[in-house]
Amino acid sequence: TKKGPLKILFLSSDTGGGHRASAEALANQFQRLYPGTTYDLLDIWSDIDSSWPYNSIKDAYKSMSASPWKWRTLYHVSNTAVYAKFADFHSYYMNEGMIREKIEQYNPDVVVSVHPTMNYIPLFSIRKVAEKFDKEIPFFTVVTDFGSGHCTWFNKDVDRMYLASEPIKAIAQKRGGVPDEKIVMSGLPIRYDFAAQADAMGDRTTDEGKAHQQKIREELNIDPNKKIILVMGGGEGVGSLSSIVNELYAKLRTQGVDATICVVCGRNEQLKGDLETRCWDTVVSQSLNSYASLKSRVVTKLLSAHASRSRRIQAALDRAAAKAAKGRDVAEVPGNVDVIPLGFVKNMAEYMVAADVLVSKAGPGTIAEAAAVGLPIMVTSHLPGQEAGNVDIVLDGGFGDYCEDPETIALEIACWLQDSQLLDVMSKKAQAVGHPHAAEEIAQDIGDTTHDLMEKNKK
Ligand code: UDP
Repeated sequence: TKKGPLKILFLSSDTGGGHRASAEALANQFQRLYPGTTYDLLDIWSDIDSSWPYNSIKDAYKSMSASPWKWRTLYHVSNTAVYAKFADFHSYYMNEGMIREKIEQYNPDVVVSVHPTMNYIPLFSIRKVAEKFDKEIPFFTVVTDFGSGHCTWFNKDVDRMYLASEPIKAIAQKRGGVPDEKIVMSGLPIRYDFAAQADAMGDRTTDEGKAHQQKIREELNIDPNKKIILVMGGGEGVGSLSSIVNELYAKLRTQGVDATICVVCGRNEQLKGDLETRCWDTVVSQSLNSYASLKSRVVTKLLSAHASRSRRIQAALDRAAAKAAKGRDVAEVPGNVDVIPLGFVKNMAEYMVAADVLVSKAGPGTIAEAAAVGLPIMVTSHLPGQEAGNVDIVLDGGFGDYCEDPETIALEIACWLQDSQLLDVMSKKAQAVGHPHAAEEIAQDIGDTTHDLMEKNKK
C-alpha cells in the first residue's frame, strides 16, 4: 500500500562532508518512497544562536582536522563518560530552550540525527515537544561513522539506531548500553547514484561489469584503455595529496604503466591550481635524479680524498660524477601518464566506477562508497580517533592497504595495477563489505515505523 508524505527533521552539521551527504541520501530516498515528503536540516550548533563553544564547532573542526595532535587530544578527552555528561549538562543549560523552540516551529513527524553531537539534548527537546503537541515523534540515529565512533553517538533512549559495522555495534552496546532490539545493521547511507551504478555494473570483475566501466570512462572523457587512479582527500581535499600525486606520476611512468590520475581536490582550490600548472617532466626528472644526485655527492667526496694520489683516478671519478649527475633522460621514460585535476565532483559514483583503484584518507563516506562499487582502496591517512576504525574496515575486509609514505604508496599502487588478478580479488572483497542500497532500506524502515506511529496518534 502507498503511504503518505512525511515531514522530516534531520539533525546534522557541516563538520566534514559526510554527515550532510548521508542526510541528503536519506532525504532523497524518503521522497522517492513517500512522494511529497518535505524535510529540513537543522544544525543546532550554527542555525540557532547557540553559546560558545557550540557555535564554533564547525570552524574548530576545520582547524583541528588539519592538526592531528589537537584532534587526537580533543577526541580522546571528549570520548569519556565524564566529559559527555558535563557537555550534556552544559549544553543543556546553555541551549536546550533554543533547540526546543526550533523543533517546535518545524513540528516534524519524525527526527533523524546523523551527527555524533546531536543525540542527547535534542532527544530531550523532542520528547518535550511531543508532550506539548500530544503526539509521538520518533527519534532515530543513523551513525555515519564506520569502524569506530565517539561515545556521544549512542543514546539507548532513541527509538532505533542504524549501524554500519560489527565493531561499531560493539561500541553501541558497550558504551551506550543500546539494546539489541533497537539496533539495525544497515550499512552506511550513501547517495542513490551508487545504488544505480552498482546495479548497472554488477560485479566489476565480469565482462558485463568491465563493459559498463568502459562506457562510463567514455562518458567522462577519460581514455578507456589506460588504468585510472582516483586520488581524493574528503570534501576539503586534505592530506598530502600533492606529493602523493607526484610520486604516483613518477613511479607509474618509470615502470611503464599507462595511466590517468584523476585528482579530486574537493574544495581545495589551491591544490587544483597547483596541479594544473605543474611541470610533470620536472617531477619525473627530480624523482630519477634524486638517486643520481646522491651518487654524485658520494663520488665528489671520494674525489677529494683521492685527488692528490692519482690523476688517473681523478679523471675516472670526474667522468663518473658527470654521468651520475646527468641521470636518466626523462624522454627515455616509457609510461604514458596523464593527470586530471578536478574540483568538487558531483558525479562521484561515476568516477569510482571508472577507476581501478582509489587513493584516499579514511573518510567513512568515501570508504562506504568505494566498497559499494567494488573499488579497492589505498588509505593514506586518518584522523586520530573515529577514523582509525575505518582503516580496519578496509584491512580486515581485505580490499586495500594502509600506507602514509607517498613513495611507498606509489610503488604499491604500481604493483596493484600490474596485477589484474589481485585487483579482481580485492574488488570482490570490497563488494562483500558494500551496501549500495543502505539509504533506501533505512528510509523504508524509518518511514514505515513513523507511519505506524502516526496511525496510532490519530486514534
Ligand atoms: N565528495 C564529493 N565530491 C568531492 C569530494 C568529496 O561528492 O569532490 C563526497 C564524497 O563522495 C563523500 C564525502 O564527500 O560522500 C566525504 O565524506 P567522508 O566521510 O569520506 O569524509 P569527510 O569529508 O566527511 O571527512
